Amino acid sequence: MPGALMDPQLIELARRYRLYYKICRRCGARNPITAKKCRRCRSKNLRLKHRESKSR
Ligand SMILES: [Zn+2]
Repeated sequence: MPGALMDPQLIELARRYRLYYKICRRCGARNPITAKKCRRCRSKNLRLKHRESKSR
């Protein structure tokens, strides 16, 4: 089971918010839901965004 690198809470959170991700308002990079900082510019200005399946 590939889950050794993640905490159970993060796994459950990722499972719960599988359709969600965070977008950095500064550089626009897409970060995982578990990210507290942008992995690109390390900014805390992240916004939770919903991935719409009905994009078309
Ligand atoms: Zn960023």
